[in-house]
Amino acid sequence: MNTPENKQSEKVNRRDAIKTLFTLAAAYTATGCKRDADALRSFFQTNFREMSPEQLASTVERWERRYEKRFDREVKVSTTPPQEDVLFGYALDVSRCIGCRRCVYACVEENNQSRDPQIHWIQVLEMDKAKGIDLMHADAYYDAEEVPQEDKFYFPVQCQQCENPPCVKSCPVGATWKEPDGIVVIDYDWCVGCRCCVTACPYGARHFNWTKPSLPVNQLNPDTEYLGNRPRPQGVVEKCTFCLQRARKGRYPACVEVCPVGARKFGNLLDPKGEIRYILENHRIYILKEELNTQPKFFYYFSI
Ligand code: SF4
Ligand code: SF4
Repeated sequence: MNTPENKQSEKVNRRDAIKTLFTLAAAYTATGCKRDADALRSFFQTNFREMSPEQLASTVERWERRYEKRFDREVKVSTTPPQEDVLFGYALDVSRCIGCRRCVYACVEENNQSRDPQIHWIQVLEMDKAKGIDLMHADAYYDAEEVPQEDKFYFPVQCQQCENPPCVKSCPVGATWKEPDGIVVIDYDWCVGCRCCVTACPYGARHFNWTKPSLPVNQLNPDTEYLGNRPRPQGVVEKCTFCLQRARKGRYPACVEVCPVGARKFGNLLDPKGEIRYILENHRIYILKEELNTQPKFFYYFSI
């Protein structure tokens, strides 16, 4: 359909296409005659959602080859589809969180986040008990010798996997979208790095790779998903995906598994007998910035 959005995305794609053609032509001239077949194939690659199974298989194979070359070890890139009748949801028990940040670092390891500069998809905010939930004056960089501090409480934040995600609407090239299981994903090969989504997200959940992400070989998680934790290049945006490489295979996200006090709960919102539904039905639930109608699938509650 020739909507204004499509026209806009065509414009951006054409501009990028011309830029890439010039780059490839320059490289071709500089190297005499050495043709980089992978670079050419990448150039003609379409958006993940438009690829045929054959195109997808050859794209995945190309990425596995590239990663193997870069890290000198085997890297698996999967494209696990969403399951039917699954809508993922997350619940966080604020009264249990002790602010240890184990979730932050488990997420970094699992999802191949850059170590230098550091990128953290999860942030734990420290707040004064006396003031209650006060995002404006929360401290994301607290450095206490011991946690939890008597007069503080801790409030982890990450992508809220909105049902009505403003980040998706803001992307001019359709590089980010909501999957049928509710996870908002990014095609890193399609992202043009304009950062519209970073600005549109009211939760500060999106992170831009200003420099080449640094990921030491011995810290690489080689079990990756195309739309999830595969290593990202410089100049693209990334964020939490509820560990879709795990969730779609029936495992808990790394942050849920590592939390020493069981503050993190995860499951299928469509399962009436599931833990998440139990929490939603039996606790008073808070969602962040409800007035924006983003409809997060990330819920906060107090069990104690
Ligand atoms: S929290 Fe931000 S990045 Fe995540 S889905 Fe909502 S708007 Fe998008
Ligand atoms: S691991 Fe659990 S207790 Fe520690 S900061 Fe994260 S949510 Fe809180």
